[in-house]
Amino acid sequence: MGSDCLFCRIVAGEIPATVVRETPTTLAFRDISPQAPVHVLVIPKEHYADVATLAQGDPALAGEVLATATAVAEDEGLLGDGFRLMFNTGAYAGQEVFHVHAHLLGGAPLGPMLARNLA
Ligand code: AMP
Ligand code: ZN
Repeated sequence: MGSDCLFCRIVAGEIPATVVRETPTTLAFRDISPQAPVHVLVIPKEHYADVATLAQGDPALAGEVLATATAVAEDEGLLGDGFRLMFNTGAYAGQEVFHVHAHLLGGAPLGPMLARNLA
């Protein structure tokens, strides 16, 4: 994927990001447009378009993304009051960047899971 993918370019160091944690296989950096006091994106360094292709293609790596997200949640002091971990996937979820990323959100009450009830 490389140069066509924004988050691959962040992994490559071609685009700056505020990195809060890095492992050999994952990277966590602050969202450029935060929606909560803590808003960190957690990605695998390897390119997968979304969480479905990641989980099907490399479930162990999907687990590493969760472990990195939890480590960041702990660093940011979110384990006590709680947090939200969210993967927008595809059109209905409004996914904009097609390199899988977990949104780690916290630091204040986050409100309802969805803006409106669709049921
Ligand atoms: P999604 O809609 O789930 O694909 O989320 C994409 C997220 O990437 C949004 O929350 C954006 O604010 C965030 N974003 C876009 N460009 C950057 C960037 N250069 N650095 C950090 N976050 C970004
Ligand atoms: Zn990518």
